[in-house]
Amino acid sequence: MTASFSNLSLAPTLARAVAEMGYESMTPIQAQAIPVVLTGQDVMGAAQTGTGKTAAFSLPLLQRLLKHENPSTSPARHPVRALVLLPTRELADQVAQQIKLYAKYTQLRSAVVFGGMDMKPQTLELKKGVEVLVATPGRLLDHIEAKNAVLNQVEYVVLDEADRMLDIGFLPDLQRILSYLPKTRTTLLFSATFSPEIKRLASSYLQNPITIEVARPNETASTVEQRFYAAQDDDKRRVIRQVLDERGLKQAFIFVNSKLGCARLARSLEREGLRTAALHGDKSQDERLKALEAFKQGEVDLLVCTDVAARGLDIKDVPAVFNFDVPFNAEDYVHRIGRTGRAGASGLAVTLVSPSDTRLVADIEKLIKKKLEVETPQLNSRPAAPSADRWGDRADERPRRRSHEGGRREEHDPRDALDAPRERRGGFRPAPVNRDPFFEKPYEPQAQEAAPAWEPTTPRPARSVISANIKPKRKVAALFKSVE
Ligand code: AMP
Repeated sequence: MTASFSNLSLAPTLARAVAEMGYESMTPIQAQAIPVVLTGQDVMGAAQTGTGKTAAFSLPLLQRLLKHENPSTSPARHPVRALVLLPTRELADQVAQQIKLYAKYTQLRSAVVFGGMDMKPQTLELKKGVEVLVATPGRLLDHIEAKNAVLNQVEYVVLDEADRMLDIGFLPDLQRILSYLPKTRTTLLFSATFSPEIKRLASSYLQNPITIEVARPNETASTVEQRFYAAQDDDKRRVIRQVLDERGLKQAFIFVNSKLGCARLARSLEREGLRTAALHGDKSQDERLKALEAFKQGEVDLLVCTDVAARGLDIKDVPAVFNFDVPFNAEDYVHRIGRTGRAGASGLAVTLVSPSDTRLVADIEKLIKKKLEVETPQLNSRPAAPSADRWGDRADERPRRRSHEGGRREEHDPRDALDAPRERRGGFRPAPVNRDPFFEKPYEPQAQEAAPAWEPTTPRPARSVISANIKPKRKVAALFKSVE
């Protein structure tokens, strides 16, 4: 079933902008959410980045705000009517760029504010008046305190990537921001998963929300082949190399739990001749963008990243994802492996399980409601002898559980690493112990991806990864300083 934008009776100014984007049909979240948001009801949407959810909430919001559009230059005639909150500057910037494109033929103004940037240009823009304000919570509070942003005329608030905002510890900031808003308003909450915390947030701030799910929450795509291999830390790199070689895979994401571990692993892979880049919270914006671009251009094969650094990156169709560390939060497992097997293409997710990870694997099993078998890979050459205190060595870099004590944290800005020729080894034979037919499905690395019905066949205007709003810049406090 494909739903067309023409059925929506969007205002001509918005319809024109959508047509220019080259969108032919609505994505599932758009088909479900737009008609509901147009009625002004609260929405609780389960959808990840990449599903088209930005248009799903911003098009109907803009449509409803059109009654306020006016050509006046007076700031008083352009109060903030819609507030969109996101956890990171990259996401805020991506969403703001999209909203600008959708609103370009209207007289509605939009702006974005996030941390790590000079407040002055943001202040000037806010003072001129904007109807749609996209923001990260910490910086928005700074502007509220400085009286640059007045929110008493807000009619719509969007809590986007709400699960991640809670993960980061933004709950107290969100609560404060929401306390400044009028009680009568429409609230839209989008989250990749509906954890108990998200449900609590929704029950506190949403009124009779309509629940919209494009994929069942906490469900991993059936197109992803999930493998769990027992591996000591010293063997993990060899397992990764053998899997890549065996499967003929060119590129992959490798997730680690700590930024120290991330940097260390990237360096080791680099030394082994693999073209690797690292993305973690201590990297500058500039380095991060370079790493991403290099990966997209195929100049880098392995992107080693932490969960926060990888969140919201607009990279689709990675053929494989490795979990070098089993994630501490089972929900991060779902996010991580959601990077592969997108849009009907098959993907591979390999999780390397250390002896101490049993409980974390059990958490994943519980979340995704699948029985997981940890296989023993047969390495084709001698592994380094495991040392007795290996786990002790790593204990320091492991995040303790994420703290939710709140307080403001800066958004992350990861960085890239170096290039080097890549070499491969072969001959990996995992022991076939898994009996679940789900895990027996063959993986086709070069399978032609079936484009979803909503994927445009005509080229869309190119979208830069990041706008001029984000400048290569100075040191920014690491997001998870205390935990990565
Ligand atoms: P989002 O999930 O909002 O970050 O969107 C992911 C990407 O999908 C963005 O690059 C959008 O421009 C694109 N997109 C959104 N809606 C559609 C659509 N109906 N058809 C094709 N592409 C879309």
